[in-house]
Amino acid sequence: MKKRIGIFGSTGSIGTQALEVIAENPDRFEVEILTAYSNENLLIQQAKKFNPNAVVIVNEAKYPVVKEALAGTDVKVFAGEKALEEVATFDTYDMMLAAIVGFAGLKSTLKAVEAGKVIALANKETLVVAGDIVMQKAVEKRVPIIPVDSEHSAIFQCLVGETRNKIEKVILTASGGPFLGKKPNFLVNVKKEHALQHPNWNMGAKISVDSATLMNKGLEMIEAKWLFNLNPDQIQVVVHPQSIIHSMVQFEDGSIKAQMGLPDMKLPIQYALAFPQRIPNKFPRYDLSRAASLHFEQPDIKTFRNLALAVEALKRGGNMPCIMNAANEIAVYGFLRNRIGFLDMTELVERAMDKIKHIAQPTLEEYFESDAEARNFAASLINL
Ligand code: NDP
Ligand code: MG
Repeated sequence: MKKRIGIFGSTGSIGTQALEVIAENPDRFEVEILTAYSNENLLIQQAKKFNPNAVVIVNEAKYPVVKEALAGTDVKVFAGEKALEEVATFDTYDMMLAAIVGFAGLKSTLKAVEAGKVIALANKETLVVAGDIVMQKAVEKRVPIIPVDSEHSAIFQCLVGETRNKIEKVILTASGGPFLGKKPNFLVNVKKEHALQHPNWNMGAKISVDSATLMNKGLEMIEAKWLFNLNPDQIQVVVHPQSIIHSMVQFEDGSIKAQMGLPDMKLPIQYALAFPQRIPNKFPRYDLSRAASLHFEQPDIKTFRNLALAVEALKRGGNMPCIMNAANEIAVYGFLRNRIGFLDMTELVERAMDKIKHIAQPTLEEYFESDAEARNFAASLINL
């Protein structure tokens, strides 16, 4: 039986790499759902190649073009935000690859969990915003959430066969991004062109900026808390510029397991899609005989204050990570449009965290409200 996959965010960096993995394994996987926000041309091309049951174009203005292009095929075409949630519950597929970027991925992922779909989770913001609700639903519905994020995939892989063994801590590795070692007097002048040049990974714009500010690692600490049921003091971040060790788990006996490989997202994507199997591939291998050295250092949280803010949000809990995430999405948006500078992003997030009311145990509605409030507040500060 082939696994039937729904790729939410198929036109993005993760989505397109997942389709490459699937194209290499036509006997194992079938594509049943593809979704895009507004890249209608790529969506149409993907639909023609993979012949899914349904596609969603969120930007409704693009609906006629997609509908017309796919006339004469069996592909059902839907448009709009609501359609994402409806399609997420279709019984024509087994596993959702959640690869939409940002808060926008939360609702459809929650619907898929409620409908009992296995989740391959790339969209970390879903857990950052409402990790308690998502994980509780997943337990209720007995839905596995398999991480795609390379660090969490590494931890997940280290934990296979360790179900009875307690985690002492996890060690999340961070490349340090394009500005590793730089100080505020340099960062104050950097532009998006520099921030988008990641040394090891080629990713979508939002996560590339998050990697440059270290917010990405902060989001990943919160993601790790929910995925692996950890306390904040069980999550350590270490900078490892080579990105060969993707993360580590330290057990109660002091033993540390690491997962290694070249930095290539296709590996964790393939692992999540094929789990619990490992399947062969022709990806380049990391060659230890080339005697590369692996290096580790402490993150500079005085310069990259986003990481300190994320630790604060992690510790305060409740809606604080949601507030932080929303303000950060606006900050990144503003930075990518040259409206604010690199260091202003941190200030915006900090001000939103100070301003919006902390709720210790929010309902889902309260998460949505906190998100909207933080977004509006952050946007008002930069006249968006
Ligand atoms: P991209 O920006 O490359 O792709 C995002 C995808 O989501 C696109 O298909 C885009 O459609 C769609 N999308 C954007 N906005 C919306 C919206 N408002 N509603 C519905 N769909 C939307 O992102 P990435 O692939 O880089 O990242 C996706 C997720 O995976 C993020 O949460 C990121 O943190 C996570 N991740 C990514 C990694 C990577 O290597 N890229 C590594 C680890 C995690 P369109 O193309 O039409 O705009
Ligand atoms: Mg990651």
